[in-house]
This record gives sequence, C-alpha cells and structure tokens, in this order.
Amino acid sequence: MKKSGIKLSAIACACSFALSANAATTLFTNVDIFNGTEDKLYEDHHVLVIDNKIAKISKSTIKSADAMVIDGQGMTLMPGLIEGHGHLQMAGGSLSEIENNLNWEELAVRSSANAKAALMSGFTSWRDAGGMGAGLKKAVDAELVEGPRIYPSGGFIGPTGSHADFRNLTTPNETFNGPQSSGARLGMTITADGVDAIKTAGRQNFMQGATQIKIMSSGGVASQFDPWQLEAYSDDEIQAAVQVANAYGSYVMSHAYSKQAIMRNLENGVKSIEHGFSFDAEIAELMEEKGAYMTTNMQAFSPLLGQVSAISASPASARKAASAQAAFKDYIANVKKFRPKLGFQGDCVGLVNACQAQNDHQIYLGAEFFGNFYYLKALTSVNGEILKLSGDVVDPYPEGKLGVVEVGAYADLLLVEGNPLEDITVIGGNEKWFDAEPRNGIDTLRVIMKDGKIYKNSL
Ligand SMILES: [Zn+2]
Repeated sequence: MKKSGIKLSAIACACSFALSANAATTLFTNVDIFNGTEDKLYEDHHVLVIDNKIAKISKSTIKSADAMVIDGQGMTLMPGLIEGHGHLQMAGGSLSEIENNLNWEELAVRSSANAKAALMSGFTSWRDAGGMGAGLKKAVDAELVEGPRIYPSGGFIGPTGSHADFRNLTTPNETFNGPQSSGARLGMTITADGVDAIKTAGRQNFMQGATQIKIMSSGGVASQFDPWQLEAYSDDEIQAAVQVANAYGSYVMSHAYSKQAIMRNLENGVKSIEHGFSFDAEIAELMEEKGAYMTTNMQAFSPLLGQVSAISASPASARKAASAQAAFKDYIANVKKFRPKLGFQGDCVGLVNACQAQNDHQIYLGAEFFGNFYYLKALTSVNGEILKLSGDVVDPYPEGKLGVVEVGAYADLLLVEGNPLEDITVIGGNEKWFDAEPRNGIDTLRVIMKDGKIYKNSL
C-alpha cells in the first residue's frame, strides 16, 4: 500500500469530501496563519489543500509526495476576503448613467472586469446586494470569466419611488400605463408595491438563481426620489419578503437607514441589515436577540463622501448625503461600544479604478475606527457566516465554510507579505481615496487561491 501523506491526512481530518485519485494538492509551508476568527497568528505552520478544501493544518511538517509546495517564507496565510454588499453589475458612474446610457452588453463586459479586479484584490467571495441575477456567477463558476464566488440577490425589490426605482421623473409608472425602466427590463431592479407583488418579485429572483433577496425598506442617498428618512415598506410588506425567502430556506437583506426602518426589519424577521447607520443600544439588543447581522459602508463617514460620482452627479443626492452624515454621527461610537456582528460592505457603484480606490479606503477606515482584528473578521469570518444564511438548499457552495482557515473549509486563501493584524495596508487598506494612485493588483498579496486553484502567484 502506498503510504502517501495525502491519504494519511485525509483520514486524520475526517473530512466529509471524497478524495479523488487525481485531486490537485497544494502544500503551504512555513506560514503564519490568521484564521479569520482569532486575534493572533499561528506561527510556523503548514497547510495542506486537497482539491478545493483545506485538508490539514499542522505545526509539524506535512509530508505529501504529490503536492505542489509553496514555501510561505514566514508570510501570513489568511482567508480570502469576502464582500458583504457589492454591486458588480452597477458598473456606471451614477444610477442615471446606468439607466440611460448603458445597455446589457456593455454592462456585462464591465461587470466581468469588476469581477476579475475583485478577485485580484483578494476578494474570493462576493455577496451581490442587488442589480444582477446569476448569469455572471455561472460564467465565473464555468471559468469563462475570473472572479469571486458570487451570491447574487437578483433585482433589488422596492416600492414605487424608492431607492430601487431607476426611472426618470417622466417615465410612466409601469403598473398604470407605461414602459419599464431599463434597469427593470434588465432585471436589475423590480418595483413591487404591496404583499402580492413583493412575493412575486422574490419568487422570480429565486427562480433566476438568487441566493437571498434584497429589499429597499428605507430611502437612500444616491437615488433621486426617496428621502433617506422614508420608511418605504410597511410591516406586512417586509413580512411578505421574509416569508418567500424563508420558504427557500434563505433570508432577506434589507437596505435600512433610519432607526424605525431598522427596528421594523428586525421585528419582522430580516436577518441582514444593510447600512444600519442609526445603530444604537436598542438596535444592538434586538439584533442580538434575533441573531441578525449588519453590513455598513464606511465611506459614508468620510468628509470626502460628496465626491463619490453617484452622489456628486445629483444635487438632490448631495443634499441628502450632507443631512444623513449629520444624523448618523453616533454610529461609530455605538459600534465600538456594542460590537455587533458587522460585515464588510464596499457598496461601490462604478468601474474598476473607482471601486478599487473606494474599497481600499474603506478597508483603511474600518480598521482605523474599530481596530484591525474586528475589521478583518468583518472581511472574513463574519461575512462568511452571513453568506451561509442562504441555507443548505440555495447556497451554491454548501460543502464547506467560507472566510476561515479551518480543516474542511473551502480553500479560498491569501498569502500576504506582512501581518494584517498590525498593518492593514498589506491587504490593500489605503489612507488615500480620490488621490490614491491607480493600481493593478496589490503587491503584498503574493498568492491568491480560490476553490483550491491559484489565480495569482508572485513568489
Ligand atoms: Zn448597495
């Protein structure tokens, strides 16, 4: 009997996956591990990847005759980053540009470029928070396009005049007498008023491959017609979305700014609060009671927010941004105090260079506000838990955990030069935003692995 290290380690780990005879194996030697959950590095370790999962983690040498060996040279091995709320297909400078000037083919090409740039920035998983179905995800899984694992939400669901309504002022309401917006025709957004319409919209999204559904339960900033204070959906409307999602074993993520909107969502079963800027003691208590999560875009707290093109393009949005920033001044102090289950949110609407600069700056801001460890968890294990709220039935990647370095987890890994627990710039964090140098990849991300396959190796 051939005594290979691979077979021994597979037996030892009692993993649920089968070992195929020609499984690809990679052995990382001499790495310091940040596992996504603990505020420490496991120094001088070795990690064996078989096929697409982590098969063994050991302080002592792992022997594997068949493995490709990557000498980590004391660098940090950590989970791939996870975007908790992005918009790959919202690939234009503003909502009105997307609505009026971009057709499906240009959006498809642009979103493919966004997907590749995300992966090359270390994002190996991506929860898309509305604006696309599962088409790009399928193309990535089929290896036609390079990109992260995608958990799509389908079209945003919101009522007439909401943050999900992309029409111009003069576009007729489709229910009464007119055509849909381009965004609606492309399935990026769905206007749904009332319980029945919301149920149909949710079911339509799941039918087309959504892994969770996204509702716009309050007003927003970058859209034209909705004050951010707006409570857009009522109790029964939110319950309708939650019922449909739960029927698929999944959950609802809900755009909510005001305290009333956040509380209403939590009380009606929403598991993922998006933005959540009015976060306070009462919300913290209810979130904990309900086992809910929150993702927040940190750029909302930057004095440079007004320069974001989706906001600067519209005087109405610029006014809303200023009023929202003033109203949400206690958010950072409250998150520091109550430490909710917070996931990273980039929320970029735009193209590669703008989104890289925005996300790099947000990684920097989050680490500045809350400390590197808390924000690294937001970027890895917490967002991994959020992805898994989609449940065993619709989760497209149900065989392992995401966002952690653990035996049995998917092999989505970064080999990083430097220690991100001490220096957030090694994973791309950048103090600069609009004046940041355009970049092509991140030099300190030396190896990027997704699903056991190497997409970058600059060693
Ligand atoms: Zn968003």
